[in-house]
Amino acid sequence: MSSEQSLSANTSVQYVKGVGPKRAEILKKSDVKTALDLLYYFPRRHLDRTSVTKIRDLTKGITTTVVAKVEAGGMRSARKKKYYQLMVNDNTGFMKCTWFNAAQYMEKVFSVSDEVAFHGKVDFYNGYQMVHPEYDILSDEEREPLNTGAVIPIYPTGESLKKMGLESRGFRRIIKACIDAYELDELEFMSKEMVDEQSLSPLTSALQHIHFAPDVETLSGAVRRLKFDEHFFLQLLMALRKTIITEQSGRTMTEVGPYVKQIYETLGFELTGAQKRVLKEIRTDMASPEVMNRLLQGDVGSGKTIVAILASAVAVGNSAQVAVMAPTEILAHQHYHVFKSYLDAVRVPTALLVGKQKSTERKKILAAIQEGRVNVVVGTHAIIQDEVTFQDLGLVIIDEQQRFGVLQRGKLLSKGDNPDILAMTATPIPRTLAITYHGDMELSLLDEMPKHHQPVTTRIVEVEKIEKVYSFMAEEMKKGRQCMVVYPLIDESEKMDLEAAVEGCKRLEKQFSDFVTALLHGRMKREEKDDIMDRFVGNEIQLLVSTTVIEVGIDVPNATIMLIENAERFGLTQLHQLRGRIGRGSEKGYCILVQRNITANSRKRLAIMERTSDGFEISDEDLKLRGPGEFYGTRQHGYPKWKIADLVNDGQIIRDARKAAFKIVKVDPHLTDPANKKIRLRFMKDYQQMLEMVNIG
Ligand code: ADP
Ligand code: MG
Repeated sequence: MSSEQSLSANTSVQYVKGVGPKRAEILKKSDVKTALDLLYYFPRRHLDRTSVTKIRDLTKGITTTVVAKVEAGGMRSARKKKYYQLMVNDNTGFMKCTWFNAAQYMEKVFSVSDEVAFHGKVDFYNGYQMVHPEYDILSDEEREPLNTGAVIPIYPTGESLKKMGLESRGFRRIIKACIDAYELDELEFMSKEMVDEQSLSPLTSALQHIHFAPDVETLSGAVRRLKFDEHFFLQLLMALRKTIITEQSGRTMTEVGPYVKQIYETLGFELTGAQKRVLKEIRTDMASPEVMNRLLQGDVGSGKTIVAILASAVAVGNSAQVAVMAPTEILAHQHYHVFKSYLDAVRVPTALLVGKQKSTERKKILAAIQEGRVNVVVGTHAIIQDEVTFQDLGLVIIDEQQRFGVLQRGKLLSKGDNPDILAMTATPIPRTLAITYHGDMELSLLDEMPKHHQPVTTRIVEVEKIEKVYSFMAEEMKKGRQCMVVYPLIDESEKMDLEAAVEGCKRLEKQFSDFVTALLHGRMKREEKDDIMDRFVGNEIQLLVSTTVIEVGIDVPNATIMLIENAERFGLTQLHQLRGRIGRGSEKGYCILVQRNITANSRKRLAIMERTSDGFEISDEDLKLRGPGEFYGTRQHGYPKWKIADLVNDGQIIRDARKAAFKIVKVDPHLTDPANKKIRLRFMKDYQQMLEMVNIG
């Protein structure tokens, strides 16, 4: 195929000039199948010639880029080890580049007078040198202008790509050919007005300039446009999902009812300002004819439970039923206990529904729910089973909602006639992440701790000093307090981890022979777990050794010390959750992080735990250090992978893209307007797998 013939979206990449079937085969492995994929194969970074360091100006220890010509290269040896060394020159001085590994291979890479960009750390050894620098050959026989611009694209290239001649230089050639032959104008999906309104680069020039930009400003315009696009389509998904919910008319629960006031009087404390504000937001939603879809975020201990109870009281006051769904049995039990204690006092009937109840007991409960004799049902996902029918479900409360899939949520909703939804999470989600992945929900924030709350003191402890910690624990237990020791068991099926916890428990039993020690882990039977928990709550057990099953759940006000083993293996957010389990009574709490596998990064991460007890700050740091994928686990599977957008740096772009997407959907809720046809097509292409969640006509 000649370069005159034009390429379009579905043309196989093989037909791009310079690619051919063999390279196409390899490109496929990098998810480049079509000419369009190749256009969207963005540089890993750009080399800005204006920010290159002259050899004359190098100093030892800096990491930088040098662009220089190859003067000579060859194999050397020292102490019988061969290595490859280049001598390069940039008219201001000489530098050596040295490869100890793969010396044989390196010998074939460079030719004399090649112009090469070297990127690496500078050291000094008989002159300046870089050891194993990244390199990118800029010039070649044809002296293509592609390689001499001010901003040079450096592409991600693996070994197999390099072997096919597709190092950065090779990519520059085929991408240039692709751009030249592609009808780029066809790709624009935004109207001229929208492009102007958002001060964006047109897509055509953005796609050209992301690869070949004359200067840094033009490049950053291209980056902004392409990031905007990725955020825009995700926000469009959110806007469309939100439409589905809000289009249905919900019930209006305008009654205040007697229960709210009655419960309020039994509280024994004043609600925090944040609790009052959030309750108002919830009540406004419940009173409006639209369906409520609200996410309540609040740090551990911020008082979400009482907010949920008061919201339930509003629903019951409007003669609707309430379902409260928790992700684990322990948590369901605890919620039930708290809900019941408040609701019994005002004579609102409650019930617990979990997996392992006796069938006679279960039948009774199911009948009571169906006949409306029970107003508030607390449980696990047992609530969404088919045989559970409500007489009139009006409010659904989902605790730790990130642990439930979209489908489970949907199933719960189908038990009522468009019930209101209040989702809760104690995992503080950074704002950018929240509006990105929960952009279809309204957000409420409990950003104020109850007054009595005193922060837990956190210390990182090296293994050698652990004896000191043990004596501190013994002292506290002598005073009548309790301790917890947590072992990492990230996946309940990890055998080694479980063994470590069992072993640890045996050791601690000996260490603290004056006290009662017990082990709790996820593989135990529920009765066993409950029994141990009951005994721990009753202070029959002073030292509880456990795996992460205690992360959500138990509340033992008398527990003051938590020691976390191999703390470096936990995510910060998880550590924060664990830490929230102690210091819930009147005595001060201590959290000891035992670090066993020390790296610079793990030390830095754990130091954040010492420094702050603000869950939002912690989750922000966690997001920066681990990236959103890790942070959010595998939950986000199914969303298209971003090529250029990211959550850490794109705050403003996300907000702009969100506004733009919601504006369109507000006027055209099913994207049926011909003016939005191109947006709609691109959306359907990118979000194929998620179309069932939306209704776009
Ligand atoms: P969360 O579920 O957000 O972790 P909880 O609702 O369990 O927090 O509240 C933690 C503790 O603080 C509970 O013992 C609760 O009774 C108490 N609490 C909640 N709100 C207040 C408040 N405004 N003033 C004092 N104590 C409160
Ligand atoms: Mg709670």
